[in-house]
Amino acid sequence: MADDELYYHVDGDLVPAAEASVSVRDRGFLYGDAVFETVRVYGGELFRWADHAERLADSAAAISLDHGLSPTELGARVTETLEANDLADAAVRLSITRGVGSGGLTPDPEVDPTVVIQVEPLPRGGVNAEPVREGPATLQTVKTRRVPDAAIPAAAKTHNYVNGVLARLELRVSDADEAVMLDGDGHLAEGATSNVFFVDGDALRTPSLDGPVLPGITRAEVLDIADAEGIPVTEGSFTPDDLRNAAEAFLTGTTREIRPVGTVDGIEVGGGPVTTLLQRLYDARVERECYGGQRLSDGRSDD
Ligand code: PMP
Repeated sequence: MADDELYYHVDGDLVPAAEASVSVRDRGFLYGDAVFETVRVYGGELFRWADHAERLADSAAAISLDHGLSPTELGARVTETLEANDLADAAVRLSITRGVGSGGLTPDPEVDPTVVIQVEPLPRGGVNAEPVREGPATLQTVKTRRVPDAAIPAAAKTHNYVNGVLARLELRVSDADEAVMLDGDGHLAEGATSNVFFVDGDALRTPSLDGPVLPGITRAEVLDIADAEGIPVTEGSFTPDDLRNAAEAFLTGTTREIRPVGTVDGIEVGGGPVTTLLQRLYDARVERECYGGQRLSDGRSDD
């Protein structure tokens, strides 16, 4: 389906994607004064919608954006958009901006938010199906540091992604797939649009949310699977060398799910049994919850 055949949802109305627009005076455009979520739809089900809706509410609260829309109302708009496009497997981007203000940087106390829902077809990936984003990812640790939490709350998913854009620009020479940013002290933070995990011995490691790290929905899912499987996990403070020397590493994110890492700064890391197990169990949850409860061929349960 070509982009211009899609319908988006703008301020309560379904409009052809090519005609979907917001004001140039919108604060989301002017200042990145907006929050958003990207949600995956599998088999017509909004995967982990409650978690995304909660993070969206937390993001809005973190920037004092009182938009007045309930998760139910937002969910209904998303469903309406998916139905209008006849999409069962898709990625959804839901943005809420502080709308058009009276001028200047200081927000008005009263907000008339702009709500935009964009959808795109995204066939299901995962280990049991045609992979959408194929192959192990190449990572590069970049010079651009992750914006500190004290500057912009890392837990808030705002439209302000210039930090990640600068990180990705650094990849132009190496042509790596993802930029890994460090915090102000030189410890691992996260990818430009992903959380980072690695395997040390039999244990899973990932930067803790004490650092400038987005609390990824997929990250939380992986931690939940690890807990159910008895895989030990340390959420802590790690160095780039910890990642480079890891036995296995992978990225997590809503659209990329669990993506194995091939190299970090040109050093071979590779996937392995822990990554494969987690991918399979993640896939089993999607299968069970969104496609009618089929079990994996080996009959193994994921809980
Ligand atoms: N960190 C950043 C900065 C991101 O943009 C994303 C993508 N939303 C992630 C991590 C992964 O989060 P999630 O699993 O919720 O998609």
